[in-house]
Amino acid sequence: MESRSWSSAICTCLYHSLLLVSVYAQPQEDSILSRFQHYLQINTAQPAPLYQEATDFLISQANSIGLHSQSVEFVKGKPVVLLKWTGSHPNLPSILLNSHTDVVPVEQHKWDHPPFDAHLDSLGNIYARGSQDMKCVGMQYLEAIRRLKSSGFQPLRSIYLSFVPDEEIGGHDGAEKFAHSDFFKELNVGIVLDEGLASPTDNYRAFYAERSPWWLVIKAAGAPGHGAKLYDNSAMENLLKSIESVRRFRASQFDLVKAGFKAEGEVVSVNMVFLKAGTPSPTGFVMNLQPSEAEAGFDIRVPPTSDPESLERRIAEEWAPASRNMSFHLGQFKQKGPVYDKHGRPIITKTDSSNPWWNLLEEAVRKANGKLGKPEIFPASTDARYFRDLGLPAIGFSPMANTPVLLHNHNEFLNQDEYLKGIDIYESIIRDYASYVDQTTDEAPKDEL
Ligand SMILES: [Zn+2]
Repeated sequence: MESRSWSSAICTCLYHSLLLVSVYAQPQEDSILSRFQHYLQINTAQPAPLYQEATDFLISQANSIGLHSQSVEFVKGKPVVLLKWTGSHPNLPSILLNSHTDVVPVEQHKWDHPPFDAHLDSLGNIYARGSQDMKCVGMQYLEAIRRLKSSGFQPLRSIYLSFVPDEEIGGHDGAEKFAHSDFFKELNVGIVLDEGLASPTDNYRAFYAERSPWWLVIKAAGAPGHGAKLYDNSAMENLLKSIESVRRFRASQFDLVKAGFKAEGEVVSVNMVFLKAGTPSPTGFVMNLQPSEAEAGFDIRVPPTSDPESLERRIAEEWAPASRNMSFHLGQFKQKGPVYDKHGRPIITKTDSSNPWWNLLEEAVRKANGKLGKPEIFPASTDARYFRDLGLPAIGFSPMANTPVLLHNHNEFLNQDEYLKGIDIYESIIRDYASYVDQTTDEAPKDEL
């Protein structure tokens, strides 16, 4: 791990004089948007993100706001940029605002505006890869803090911002290593905010859990034979029976969503992602031969509210039964994420009165004139899981209402008004989070009560 030590842009006395100036100089919307556009213009698309440019930009933002900054490399060349606003009671559990700097690749020719121009059209839409996922959020955190700082607000709890490098390829060198580091322990994090999804309605969406990816490969074996002969237990027949069984299950889960009984994140989704079989020939495949092996791959997403053991049984007994010459065992999962924590509890962040951070978020969004929908399970994976796995509360939230869900799509955009409104929302959340005192524990700073 390489690390640069904390550096503060401005000494305390200079900071106070700047504070006086900035109280009277309201930041212009133009410069807020141009800072967002600048970040979007840095091409951080996988597989070769311009990490150094992004790091330099984020540290320059930290310097201009007066935040401590540090760039930490758990894996060489993959920087985690960490910014800090020290609270007046730094022993209280801190707040971590997480975002990822990387974005998914683009098919340039399918975009109406170049994906790294951050073009602002006449409707106020800003087109760029990362405008929704999730450079908007990273910059909104910074703008909210910029505003809170210039208003003279002093946080009780310390606030950290982490900008992690590789969420789009699994987060293994960024958030995962960060979450498991001694460095992270020292931050004494009490709550994590991370990404959510855009919402086509007036309601913002918030996520309290996510589905775990299970990537399954099942293999069928059978006697090879002449393509003209009918016989039992050929590899292709065995595999087809399994695929039919998987499809029935898929339809039953999808029906629950279509009928409105369950949200997308609450069902087990299964999609076949590859089929591998046949005997290659110079012109394609040998046509008069039944092969002795056939394979299929499935991307399964398992919500923490489901029973993983019954799904494992289903796989072993119905989808890949040994009685049909199917091979299946746990080792064949290419990736199998946990559904339960080490105490056997589903990995979820509570959204009831037992979790004060949830109540604070609801209230803060409301105070900033935002509306929050019913909390959901994120249908795919985000870096939030690495923090939830530690037992920390983590809420996925990207304040984008009245916005089509365009993450990973062509022509990803965010309207400037939604972006600006999101800054108000975070200002409200960060103020309430940073001021929160838990009266039920002895963490309350007694001198101020
Ligand atoms: Zn994302």
